[in-house]
Parts: sequence; structure tokens; C-alpha cells
Amino acid sequence: MNFESWWLIFLPLLFGLGWVAARIDFRQMLRESRDLPDSYFKGLNFLLNEQPDRAIDAFVEVAKLDPETTELHFALGSLFRRRGEMERAIRVHQSLLSRADLPAREREHALHEIAQDYLKAGMLDRAEMAYVELKNTRYQEPAARALVRIYESEHDWAKAIEAVRKLGRLTQESVPQLVHYHCEITQSFLDQRPPDIASARAALDEACAVIGADDKASAASRARVLMLEAQLARTAGDAALERRRLLVLLDEAPDYAGLVAADLRRNFEATQESDVLLECLASHYAAHPSLDLFDVLFGLTWGQQGQQAAWAFAQQALTEHPSLLGLERALATQLKCASAPLSQEAAPLGLIALPLMQKLIGRHTPRFDRYSCRACGFQARVHYWQCPGCHGWETYSAKRLEEQI
Ligand SMILES: [Zn+2]
Repeated sequence: MNFESWWLIFLPLLFGLGWVAARIDFRQMLRESRDLPDSYFKGLNFLLNEQPDRAIDAFVEVAKLDPETTELHFALGSLFRRRGEMERAIRVHQSLLSRADLPAREREHALHEIAQDYLKAGMLDRAEMAYVELKNTRYQEPAARALVRIYESEHDWAKAIEAVRKLGRLTQESVPQLVHYHCEITQSFLDQRPPDIASARAALDEACAVIGADDKASAASRARVLMLEAQLARTAGDAALERRRLLVLLDEAPDYAGLVAADLRRNFEATQESDVLLECLASHYAAHPSLDLFDVLFGLTWGQQGQQAAWAFAQQALTEHPSLLGLERALATQLKCASAPLSQEAAPLGLIALPLMQKLIGRHTPRFDRYSCRACGFQARVHYWQCPGCHGWETYSAKRLEEQI
């Protein structure tokens, strides 16, 4: 196409049209901003100055003047929830949901908001209903996560299994907690009085199937399944099988040996084979030292070879792995089991009054004698598979705080 010089006369015309359009836009913007009540700008200003309380008052004023503004209601509801005013947050979102003319997209948004309100307010049944309604919407992923959390807190493991499988399909994420849900079901059958062994076995088979299908299964989940297999065997009166499962755990999840050290001791003592266990645990301790293994080894050595040998082991072990907790446990065994006082030569500590020494050490050990969550730092006297603080799975180390220093 050839350029014709007379086309140039259109240029000023185009500029003129652009100028007119810009003026119209600007006027429109000015008119709209004039239409907004002063309270809106006051609220915005309070928000920017991090004064959410005063911002809320200002926005409530705007909302009264213009009840149709959905965005403002969403902002208000969210502010109320953040401040913990759950009743007000729920009321705001309910009023949005009650509007017949609310577009579908905003209805989903309001449903997601009210579901979060219910969850934060602890109204789990209502939160569950709202989240279930959100499936097949753009909020399906956060809804699936929230449902998993709700079923976990209700200990509704069957629904949690279903929800976490769905979450896995939605996000392609691994869901390591799945095996733990089956373990929780197993444990609940074992805790019944009398224990329901057949149901526990069926639930544990499911856990084994999950682990079998996951070549990246963690040592923690393998340890838990093996511990439950051992507990199930013990409950069913099969001590030989219990022993085999516990010994497999030493191989497959060596860091978790401390959690089963006492069970191993009881199992081997029942058949007068403590000497076999002493040998086995001594070599395990050399590679994977832990406080609970030390405790059991000290007691076994004492029983098999006498208190002098036990203290010789303690001296070597505590030199290599200094531990106030270990020393306190050894002193407790000494005070409980010694029929005669420890001789001066054998006592690595010198013979100041042992009860006094135990008391002095005992004043400092409780703060180390805890398991701790790697994710949130929540501390507890017992080991948890799910952190009671942040609800993360497998976040607890199998070792106590002192051993992690
Ligand atoms: Zn935690």
C-alpha cells in the first residue's frame, strides 16, 4: 500500500479524539471519587497507618451508606476475622451470602470467607459444610487442605484419608500423613478394651500397603508401622514376632531405636536372653547413640555384669557423648538397684552424696528432657508423630533436646 500525503490531515483529528477521550476518563474518575464518602478515605488512611480498629469504624460507616459495595464487605469481614471478632465477621459474610443478586463468583468468595470464619471460631461442622460446598470451585485446593485439617482435629481418620487422597490428586503433592492416618486407626483398635486385634490388623495392612507403594516413605513412617506391628504381635501374644519386628526397626529406622529400647529389654528379659540383647544394642549404640539406648544398656550391663561394669560403660559413653540426662538416669538406677554403695575406685564421680548429686542434676535436666518440633519448636515430654502445636506430621525428632545440641 502506498502512502498518500493527504492522509496526514487525519493526524490532528486523531490527536483531538484522544484528548477528548482522556478528558472524559479523567472527569469520570473525578466524579467517582467525589461520589465516595469521606469515611472511605479515612478508613484507607487508618489502614495505611496500621490502625485497623479505627479503619473498621470508618468502613462500617461507608457500608451503612452503601450496602451494595461487596468489596468493602469482604474487606471488613477479613479485618474482623483478623482481629478475632468472629461473630461480626460471620455476620458480614452471611449478609453477603443472603443477597439473591450476588454473582456466582462472589458467592464462592463469600463462602470461602465464611468457611474460614467458622474454622477460626472452632465451629468445625459448619466450616466442613462450607468447605465441602467449595469443591469444583476455584477454592477447591484451599478447601481440600482445610478439610484435611478439620478431619484430623476431629480424629475422623476415615474422612481424613479420603480428603488427603483428593488433595494429593489436586496438587500432585506427596501426602506423607496418609500412612499415619491408617496408623491412628490401628492404634485406636489396639487401645480398645479388649483390643480389636482383627480390625487393627486390617488397618495396619492398609498402612503397610501405603508404605509399600511409596518408595520414598520416610524412616519415621516405617518406624511407626514397625512399632505398631510389634505392639499388635505383643497384644496377640506372639512375643517372637514382636521381637522380629523390633529388630527390623533397628535396621530400617536406626534413629528410632530409642523409642523401642524399653520394649526390646522387656521382650528379651522374658526369655532370659538379656545377654543377646546387650550385645546387639551395644553395637547399635556405637553407631547410633541415644539417651534411651544408653539407659537400657546401663541397666542391662548392670544386670548381666554388675554395677562396676555398668559404670565403666557409663563413663566411656558419657565421655564420648556427654549427657546430663544420661548421668541422671544412671544415678537413678544406682540409687534404686545398688545393694551396696559404689566403691571409691569404680565411682567415676567421686563419692559425694549420690542423692544430692542426682537432685542437683535433676534441677537442670527437665528442660532438656523433651522432644521438640523442628517446624515450630513446640516441646513435649513424649514423642508425637503429629505436632500438637503446628499439626505438622513427622516434625518431631526421635531424640530429646539435649541430644540435638
Ligand atoms: Zn510443630
